[in-house]
Amino acid sequence: MTSTDEQLLQDFFRIRVIADRAVLEVACLSWEGPHTPITTWETVEELRSGMDAQARARAALEDERWFGVCTLCGERNPNGWLMTLDDECICHRCAERHRQIVF
Ligand SMILES: [Zn+2]
Repeated sequence: MTSTDEQLLQDFFRIRVIADRAVLEVACLSWEGPHTPITTWETVEELRSGMDAQARARAALEDERWFGVCTLCGERNPNGWLMTLDDECICHRCAERHRQIVF
């Protein structure tokens, strides 16, 4: 577990309780224009009794539907912060810093 992963777990996951069900959700970012992120919450899975929510969230971090690892800095990022450039999958921070892309 890196500190980045810890931060992602804190910021991008929540447990929503609907009636008597608990659902693990993950935040998905999309962009309305370059500076306006829109967060939508997608269901990862329903948490049944005995399931370890932390462990399930950690497993979802490895899921490429929601997260990916930047080729340049090696940090895990939500897909909304990653872009594909010349066959590289890089984060927005690296795109600005190393590829002179301005958002
Ligand atoms: Zn990066």
